[in-house]
Amino acid sequence: MEIDKSTGGYIFDIQGFSVHDGPGCRTLIFLKGCSLRCSWCSNPEGINFFPEPLYNAEKCIYDKLCVSACKKNAIYTDEVGIRFRKEICRDCSTFECVKECCTGAIRKCGYYISAEQLLDKIKRDRQYWGGNGGITLTGGEPLCQPEFAETVLRNCFETLIHTGIETCGNVKWASIESLLDFIEWIFYDIKHLDSDKHKEATSSGNELIIENAVRLAEKFKGRMIFRMPIVSGFNDDIEHIKNMCEFIKETGRREINILPLHRLGREKYKLVGLKFKDEFKIPGKEELLNIKNIFESSGIKCFIGSDTPF
Ligand code: SF4
Ligand code: SF4
Repeated sequence: MEIDKSTGGYIFDIQGFSVHDGPGCRTLIFLKGCSLRCSWCSNPEGINFFPEPLYNAEKCIYDKLCVSACKKNAIYTDEVGIRFRKEICRDCSTFECVKECCTGAIRKCGYYISAEQLLDKIKRDRQYWGGNGGITLTGGEPLCQPEFAETVLRNCFETLIHTGIETCGNVKWASIESLLDFIEWIFYDIKHLDSDKHKEATSSGNELIIENAVRLAEKFKGRMIFRMPIVSGFNDDIEHIKNMCEFIKETGRREINILPLHRLGREKYKLVGLKFKDEFKIPGKEELLNIKNIFESSGIKCFIGSDTPF
């Protein structure tokens, strides 16, 4: 389906009552699509840029009605059950497989929404935001749909709704710059300062991310908090943490939120048809406190998990 990217886009969830993703109580809007492939991604259903079928083998009775329903021949079967050729599904607008599946084993993930419809939905949440709450665009990577993100943020800003984003920064600078007048705070992710290591775990080097971080820190007038997942054996060594301290100080910013690796998204990998990579370890509390101490002794405020004060 051809869409006007400035007036609408693809999202896969809207969640209310969030108190960890920005000031006050917030509504989170999850945009589809991401340019990274982080091994530990907790929202694998947000990686593809298009609406897609998710498959729950535990609900499947294997009558294969979905196979005959799909006129595009996008479904095949193997020992796991039903499998999708998602490169075909990306152009599907009918989702006959979902309609035909009487057990709910297949569901559609992601849908198109106009910026206007989204604003109407967002506004309904005003009552619970309180004084300083609002919306946060997340994903996926929200800035991978830059025109849509800009329109949503502009609409909210002009309607006096507080705006924030969570971004990995792996997008063109122009996609960030166009939003700056409509954003009030930013969580900016850095996974690793070494580009080769970054590529090993995310499928992409970090040059663009680092370059954008420096420019953003200089140009953005609001609060920008760096964020780093702490992944044992990947980015938690003392040398890397000290390099992060230096990097953050050079940008002029002074805050980081560290997020211990978790495996809460593991079950979703099966639904998407991806293999969960179990290669990294979860850091212990002592290690996190040690990392926090290193940041704080460099003059950088460090918040663990959901402890960021807003
Ligand atoms: S239609 Fe649903 S229950 Fe039947 S085989 Fe397909 S996924 Fe399984
Ligand atoms: S989403 Fe569309 S193309 Fe993909 S399996 Fe279902 S009906 Fe076929």
